[in-house]
Amino acid sequence: MLDKLKRGYQEYIDNYFNKELAEYLADNGQFPQTLFVTCSDSRVVPNQLTNSKAGELFITRNIGNFIPPYLGEDSKYLATASALEYAVSSLKVKNIIICGHSECGAIGTLFNDVNKTDKNVNIINWLELGAPAKEKALNTIPNASIKELRDFTEKESAKIQIENLMTYPDVKKRVESGDLKLYAWHYNIRTGEVLCYDSNLDKYVPLADCL
Ligand SMILES: [Zn+2]
Repeated sequence: MLDKLKRGYQEYIDNYFNKELAEYLADNGQFPQTLFVTCSDSRVVPNQLTNSKAGELFITRNIGNFIPPYLGEDSKYLATASALEYAVSSLKVKNIIICGHSECGAIGTLFNDVNKTDKNVNIINWLELGAPAKEKALNTIPNASIKELRDFTEKESAKIQIENLMTYPDVKKRVESGDLKLYAWHYNIRTGEVLCYDSNLDKYVPLADCL
C-alpha cells in the first residue's frame, strides 16, 4: 500500500505539482475564499470535484460533515469549531459550503441501533449532531424506504448544519452584513452530480442553477 502512495507522490511531483504557485503561496500566505466542510469519507475528494488548486479551499472534514453548535467558553479541543473560527475570523473567507454526500455511512448509522462501547463512544456521541435531521426525515416521510430516508436525512442535515453555523457570533455577524455566504451541497458519489440548497425555492437544485 505504501508503495502505491510513494508512486502516486512521484506522479504528483512530476505531473501536477505547480512550483510557481507553491512558491507564491509559501511567500505570501494563503487567501482562500471558501471554507469547505465535508465528510471524512474517502469517496469525497473536495479539490477534484471543484477543480481547485492549492490555496483555494480551506477544508475541514469530519464524519457526517457536522458543525457542533457554538459552546463558547465551555468548549475545548474542538477541531471543527477551531477550523471554523480560523476560516471566518482570521482568513475571512467569503463562502462556507457544507457538503454532504450520498451513501454517507454516518447518516446510515443513525438508522441502525448501535450500542455505545469503549470502541465507538466518540462516534456515537458525535452522531448526535445528525439526530435532528433523522427526526425530520421520519416525521416528513415516515413510510419511505430506508434509501429515501437516508437521502432526505443527508440533505436535511446539511441545512441544519447551516443553522448551527449561525450560532457562531462572527458567522452570524458576517452573514447578516452580507460579507459571508453559507451553502448546503449534496454530492452524489455514484453519479458525480452536485445539488445545492436553494432557500428561496426550499429545495435542492443542480449546482449550475444555484444562486
Ligand atoms: Zn459521509
